[in-house]
Amino acid sequence: MSTFYITTPIYYVNDIPHIGHAYTTIMADAITRFRQAEGHQTYFLTGTDEHGQKIEKSAEAQGITPKILADRVVERFKDLWRVLDIRYDRFIRTTDADHVAGVQHLFRKVLEKGDIYPGDYRGHYCVSCEGYVPETAPEAASGNKICADCGKETELLTERCYFFRLSAYEERLLCFYKDNPDFIRPASRMNEVVSFVKMGLKDLSITRSTVKWGVPVPDDPEQTIYVWFDALSNYITALGYPDATADFARFWPADLHVMAKDILRFHAVYWPAFLMAADLELPRKELIHGWWLKDEKKMSKSRGNVLDPHILLKYFPADAIRYFLMREAPIGADANFSHQGFITRINTELTNDWANLISRVGGMVSRYFSNRFPGQADYSAAEEELREDYLELENEVRSHFDAYAFNRGLERIMEYVNRLNRYIVESEPWKMAGQETLQPRLEAVLKTLVRAILSANALLAPVIPRSAARVREFFNHAGEGFGWKDPGEKFAVRDVEPLFPRVDPKQFFAEELQDSHPSPSPKEAQMNEKPQTPEGVISFDEFKKVRMVVARVVAAEKVEKTDKLLRLTVDTDSDTRTLVAGIAQYYTPEELVDRKIIIVANLQPATIRGIESRGMILAASDKDGRPYIPVIPEETPVGAIMR
Ligand SMILES: [Zn+2]
Repeated sequence: MSTFYITTPIYYVNDIPHIGHAYTTIMADAITRFRQAEGHQTYFLTGTDEHGQKIEKSAEAQGITPKILADRVVERFKDLWRVLDIRYDRFIRTTDADHVAGVQHLFRKVLEKGDIYPGDYRGHYCVSCEGYVPETAPEAASGNKICADCGKETELLTERCYFFRLSAYEERLLCFYKDNPDFIRPASRMNEVVSFVKMGLKDLSITRSTVKWGVPVPDDPEQTIYVWFDALSNYITALGYPDATADFARFWPADLHVMAKDILRFHAVYWPAFLMAADLELPRKELIHGWWLKDEKKMSKSRGNVLDPHILLKYFPADAIRYFLMREAPIGADANFSHQGFITRINTELTNDWANLISRVGGMVSRYFSNRFPGQADYSAAEEELREDYLELENEVRSHFDAYAFNRGLERIMEYVNRLNRYIVESEPWKMAGQETLQPRLEAVLKTLVRAILSANALLAPVIPRSAARVREFFNHAGEGFGWKDPGEKFAVRDVEPLFPRVDPKQFFAEELQDSHPSPSPKEAQMNEKPQTPEGVISFDEFKKVRMVVARVVAAEKVEKTDKLLRLTVDTDSDTRTLVAGIAQYYTPEELVDRKIIIVANLQPATIRGIESRGMILAASDKDGRPYIPVIPEETPVGAIMR
């Protein structure tokens, strides 16, 4: 049996799962299910990237260890994958012991070969943030770089580290791209990679002595292995590398690495070079997709426009989200997410066209034949045509899916679904129903429709697996592969329940969006037309945009080298976050710990003294600026919303 090994990137635990992670992971899941239906033995890997300075610091700010922080975020990823029906074979964490051992083995092997060597790293170091800033950071008048996080001037520092001899792989990489023109999909991304390598490759520093939270360099515990060398190795350590008897022998090289375009260079240049240095085979293909934009802007935590899939999941089944993301975005291009576009797509294609077809046909089989066909069908050329059309459709859809053009494959399936809806109108089964002599024709029409539905359903199954399983259940059909589905002549069906109940857009926008979405697009805002409010007066909807919740102070401490700032760690029930508040002259940390407070939870995060402050504590203020924190009744639950 041929194998198919597919991966998503490992997601950084300093982030929260959002629609971008969901897109990559759903795509990989749909590809996996498609390959399974074609008869491949698959291995699907996803996971989390947990090391590095950012994690170390977020954890410190929250007063917990980096591992505890990672454990919490990992649960959020796993929960979302469960809800979205993601069926992975392994969820790897870079803190897993076998991964750590595998990375160290790889490091040692390349070191022994001479392609990792000790040297000095020179960089612009921000003392207050304890980290290097990029070469591209802006310069102050003195010529030093400015730290983007705290705005302070950096110092040029030199530290001991290890380098990877990337410069030695320029020619070999270019040869590899030439021999494997399909390595990167879409092709435009391949051109980017080739031009980047042709500009010349510099050796890469791959360890740090300033970062403690990482995989220790073997025999040099002062140093930890830097993020990319650690993270990329997960694709082989997950399979048991260096143990060649494990899954590694069976599944490596990977058939497909799926990722967003911002990490292309690491996967298409550094990763192949690391593998060449270790004398390992290179992955066969990398699929690079675009970003989901919200209101035409990239979603990011700092912009506060990140779309949380859980909001949609309150109203729509997971399959609706899976379908929309695969149907809407052409592979490689950016796609814009709008709630209006989402609701229209789902209500039109999944509810009106697909689910209605199933319930109409199911309803007629139930009414006219009490769910069981007698086996006396009289077929005509029209039914044979539906079968032939299906076979043509299947060829096309499989070749689109094979090229990962899910949007085009799904578009073709929906054309066929509409063809079936037209066939019902044209053959008018309700007119045959009362007439004895037309029963064999009626049976042929309905049976052919059930067969066509089951066949199209198999093509949809990789994208919408849960509803596909229900369709098979309604029509008593077990087979999961492709082909014209023929359950025989005397088959029976079950009562059919609605698959994708229609969601009323007005209700969705009125109830949900105002609560959980900080800035609706102008189009969405129009959906809730409101009269203009006079100057100085805000509408109720504007008020509702400010999300104020009751939180409990878990920890509090003075921010070093300041006399006004307190760093608070607060529990809001849905998360634990850090706030910086200028109240240290009036409140001691001790009197705040365990106290309930009100915070503005959806305020854009700000970095104060190198600490990311996510939200603002509410306090009254007198004319001298003295703060008064309101007293919340003790029985108020944490997470309660002020309205
Ligand atoms: Zn800084």
